[in-house]
Amino acid sequence: MTKIEENIREIRRRMAEAAGKAGRDPAEIMLVGASKMNDAAACQAAIAAGIDALGENRVQEMRAKLQEHAYDGAPLHFIGHLQRNKVRQVVGTVSLIHSVSSMQLLEEIDAQAEKRGLIQDILLEVNVGGEESKSGFAPEEVYDAAAAARNFSHIQLLGLMTIPPVERESHGNLPHFSKIHRLYVDISRNLYNNSFKYLSMGMSDDFEDAIASGATIVRVGSAIFGRRNYQT
Ligand SMILES: *Cc1c(COP(=O)(O)O)cnc(C)c1O
Repeated sequence: MTKIEENIREIRRRMAEAAGKAGRDPAEIMLVGASKMNDAAACQAAIAAGIDALGENRVQEMRAKLQEHAYDGAPLHFIGHLQRNKVRQVVGTVSLIHSVSSMQLLEEIDAQAEKRGLIQDILLEVNVGGEESKSGFAPEEVYDAAAAARNFSHIQLLGLMTIPPVERESHGNLPHFSKIHRLYVDISRNLYNNSFKYLSMGMSDDFEDAIASGATIVRVGSAIFGRRNYQT
């Protein structure tokens, strides 16, 4: 068994445990491998070990790894900060964009999807901690943004995504997670006829708390692939 396979097994076990404690079915929670800075071979090892999807952060890195067939055999998601001038390279290439962080971006995705004759599945990113360094809609803005998203014909809004602030205390993100879960349920019920499917939150250090708070997608990087080496 490869190290990556071993890690994925252990994460699945912990996901199932967290789901069980919350009275949830583990089968309704998707494990997305956050594969930034990991090569095509690592992506393929994760796919062989049954990861549900891979998520990339940078368009350029994703394009290079696509050439190497890194994602063959699993769905590909985009989870990183997206620049408007790169939207064209992402729409239709990935099955889900988690990180739609402004109305301008939403407009551009809709326009590019229309050009390509497809409907792009997206999530709205919420900046739950109101951090300047992070993009995303403020929690107070996201309801209106989701309402406006109904007017676009080439996107399908399926839920919300968040990256909470780095917390020093264990379980420090629980209040953030439950706040976003409340928004998710509200918006789905009031604006989308309960059709939302994806609440994307929780990473290596806090995916169990995210599952306790209702996440249906967790995005896990270092706990699968090992620590990223930012030196190289
Ligand atoms: C890197 C990354 C993750 C995974 O982070 P880990 O702490 O390594 O699990 C999840 N989501 C996004 C958007 C990321 O950029």
